[in-house]
Amino acid sequence: MPVEHKTQAATRPPAKNVGFVSLGCPKATVDSEHILTQLRAEGYAISPSYEDADLVVVNTCGFIDDAIEESLQAIDEALHENGKVIVTGCLGAMGDIVQQHFPNVLAVTGPHATHEVMGAIHEHLPPDHDPLIDLVPLQGIRLTPRHYAYLKISEGCNHRCTFCIIPDLRGDLQSRPVADVLNEAERLVAAGVKELLVISQDTSAYGVDQKYKTAFWNGMPVKTRMTELCAALAKLGVWVRLHYVYPYPHVDEVIPLMADGTLLPYLDIPFQHASPRILKAMRRPAASENTLQRIREWRKICPDLTLRSTFIVGFPGETEDDFAQLLDFLEQAELDRVGCFTYSAVEGAKANQLPDHVDEDTKQERLQRFMEKQAAISREKLARKIGSVQRVLVDAVSESGAIARSAADAPDIDGLVYIEQHCELKPGDFVDVHIDATDEHDMWGSIISQC
Ligand code: SF4
Repeated sequence: MPVEHKTQAATRPPAKNVGFVSLGCPKATVDSEHILTQLRAEGYAISPSYEDADLVVVNTCGFIDDAIEESLQAIDEALHENGKVIVTGCLGAMGDIVQQHFPNVLAVTGPHATHEVMGAIHEHLPPDHDPLIDLVPLQGIRLTPRHYAYLKISEGCNHRCTFCIIPDLRGDLQSRPVADVLNEAERLVAAGVKELLVISQDTSAYGVDQKYKTAFWNGMPVKTRMTELCAALAKLGVWVRLHYVYPYPHVDEVIPLMADGTLLPYLDIPFQHASPRILKAMRRPAASENTLQRIREWRKICPDLTLRSTFIVGFPGETEDDFAQLLDFLEQAELDRVGCFTYSAVEGAKANQLPDHVDEDTKQERLQRFMEKQAAISREKLARKIGSVQRVLVDAVSESGAIARSAADAPDIDGLVYIEQHCELKPGDFVDVHIDATDEHDMWGSIISQC
């Protein structure tokens, strides 16, 4: 038997190498992971350098102007360094912008297009197949560290926010079958994942397109619906964090699950604004809900709830009074984590046609006032944690200590917990730390016990 293997390895031609550049949001990351998984399943090797790659795939983002610019630069670099380039992702769905800039790319597809990307790769770099060694780990290929993973539960969106072109790029909501999502989550946990980050364009709408149909997972009936999906995910015994949740009434149902420790007490809700007039002009989902009242009720049930949100300032028609309402909302809502962008016109977005665009200086000035106000709120809220004990998940370890995240911190977008001792920690460990100091983003702590 060993001789047979040796012979096979010796006669096998070297694997064909594909380089991969992945840009954009976590949804794009998941698309990249699906393509990489398929590449490995078919026996391609993934090359870390342009030089060794036979061909390069660039997964692009087209959400705002800066992202478009970054994507165009990445394509330019790949063409310059390698020459054989396939483009996929949101920029690829924005008309013929890619072909106009780079007529020599081999192929262009939109997002969520593993099949089309693989077709283009087969055409320009046909695979060699060896069933004995073309094996892929059961959990697929992931771009995140081993201990956390994004879990995409649906694609597309039924809303039509006037500043957004995602529904044009990705289509209407298509929920993944609940058993598929749960099976994938189970495989990820079996492979060492300690934190599942549930993502989509609109997590609370999960299952609407399937009329919340009941399916079976491990012999148990589970509805294709956010609350039921979350409750089932929580049975896997890992952190479950919810992103892109719109505050529809049924979101109230997950708050008790957060209060009793079943789900992480964390909600990422992109409010985008607080003035009813601007929310209406934005055509935001759930805009008419009494948000402040809801937040108060949620915190009564789950006092440790962390609320993260994003906002846009300088939306067309935003007056000083609208902006004052937004600042007032920030003060009253006391959100824990906040991101803010100035409005930027995205080609094809309906908001571009709205009257009374705000000039750039005013946008920047409002952004600064917004961030100053929120920094003070975040600093004050984090300072309340000094003296508390927080369970954290270790992301990285170096000679000078460890970097971790608490239940209140999603990877890449929120704060960090710095642990300054030398210790035996490793990425993926849970540890309890005493919080010694904080600023407006991060916390510093000392270990109490390793879990
Ligand atoms: S909810 Fe609005 S912003 Fe979010 S993807 Fe849908 S249309 Fe775009």
